[in-house]
Amino acid sequence: MGLPMSSAAWQAVLGRLDAAAALLDLDPDVHRLLRVPERVLEVAIPVRKDDGRVEVFLGWRVHHDTTRGPGKGGIRFHPEVDAAEVAALAAGMTFKTALLDLPFGGAKGGVRCDPTKLSLGELERLTRRYAYEISPLLGIDRDVPAPDVNTDGRVMAWLMDTLSMTTGQHQGAIVTGKPLALGGTLAHAGATSSGVVVCVRAAFRQLELPLAGRRAVIQGFGKVGGPLAFLLASAGMRVVAVSDVGGAVVNEGGLDVAALADHVAAGGGVATFPGGDGAARDAVWDVACELLVPAALGGVITPAVAERLAATLVVEAANGPTTPDAEPVLARRGIPVVPDILANAGGVTASYFEWAQAKQGYAWDESMVADRLRGRMEDAFTAVWARADAVGVPLRSAAYLVAVERVAAAIAARGLFP
Ligand code: NAD
Repeated sequence: MGLPMSSAAWQAVLGRLDAAAALLDLDPDVHRLLRVPERVLEVAIPVRKDDGRVEVFLGWRVHHDTTRGPGKGGIRFHPEVDAAEVAALAAGMTFKTALLDLPFGGAKGGVRCDPTKLSLGELERLTRRYAYEISPLLGIDRDVPAPDVNTDGRVMAWLMDTLSMTTGQHQGAIVTGKPLALGGTLAHAGATSSGVVVCVRAAFRQLELPLAGRRAVIQGFGKVGGPLAFLLASAGMRVVAVSDVGGAVVNEGGLDVAALADHVAAGGGVATFPGGDGAARDAVWDVACELLVPAALGGVITPAVAERLAATLVVEAANGPTTPDAEPVLARRGIPVVPDILANAGGVTASYFEWAQAKQGYAWDESMVADRLRGRMEDAFTAVWARADAVGVPLRSAAYLVAVERVAAAIAARGLFP
């Protein structure tokens, strides 16, 4: 493949890098380096299907920049994933790990497949062959994958087992997001949502708004949106609207989120929850609130949606929910946006803790994981808010300034090989 220069996702990352480079007066050599991924591995993955045929899937593992540490980033199984998307996500990880000051670089992986059409056995064979094919790039101190869209602890366990069997060594620190039975960390499951809440609390403090009784709207009720609704309600907020792929539910008095979670766990969509009024899924954009959290998909806050929003603050739990052309609209309307690379970084921070524990061979207790997670998120938020104030730019630009500066400092310190 050629370098993935044309995709919208890659162009969006480059645009953010270029803007930060201009504000930082970044060394042009460093800038050129960061505009190209370090390495892109494309692999064919032949899988014996249950009916005896062999189907060949395509997969990728990309390192965007590993100057600050081993590559870190998830693996997604999705029918539309391609090299350009994986490269863009890898670059996002370079900047997210730098912003949280985690000793990692940016990586990402993907397999172009529809996991809903694979049996469990086919999924395992696909995962193991993919792990084998990308193994030249992986290693405890080289590249440490994690779950992403449509992958989970079970997939991570197969990866870890494959890499351990093929090397004859126990490779406990080679992936994160592992099941607890295999050295996963306590507090990993809700870490992304907990990190979002740290940002919500810190932003409300800055805006001098009390949390209690304020209205929250959440798009998406999955692994992030579900626990987040519960945590925000526990913090005293009124969760007045929630959506999922099938619709939305609205209750101005505040939804009973525990009952809503039970309803969804029993197989219902949020729109059929009896504790509120069912609505179309995009109705969430029009519900007046102090806090809006997109926690579903990328590219949902377009300029038209940004004009409609009735929110005081947006905190991005999803990756890339705001399109670049919607950002000026939100800025003009005075709606601050806590960007994804900061707001949803709780998950990768917990992954760092899991990796550190596996390398130490010593498990931390849950309160240590939670305290350190909160500390890291608060430090990153403070750095971003202060930079936004000092430079007079939106929070997203400030986050990229802090992150790009850290990566550039590491590149300068190491120098160019050979
Ligand atoms: P998930 O698949 O568990 O949940 C996604 C939710 O979004 C589901 O409730 C789904 O019904 C809903 N949804 C899908 N399309 C929708 C639409 N058009 N309108 C409204 N709702 C819709 O996914 P997740 O793990 O919760 O991830 C959500 C987002 O957070 C993604 O952008 C992901 O990249 C990002 N993220 C997740 C993690 C994590 O730890 N899981 C970490 C960082 C970032």
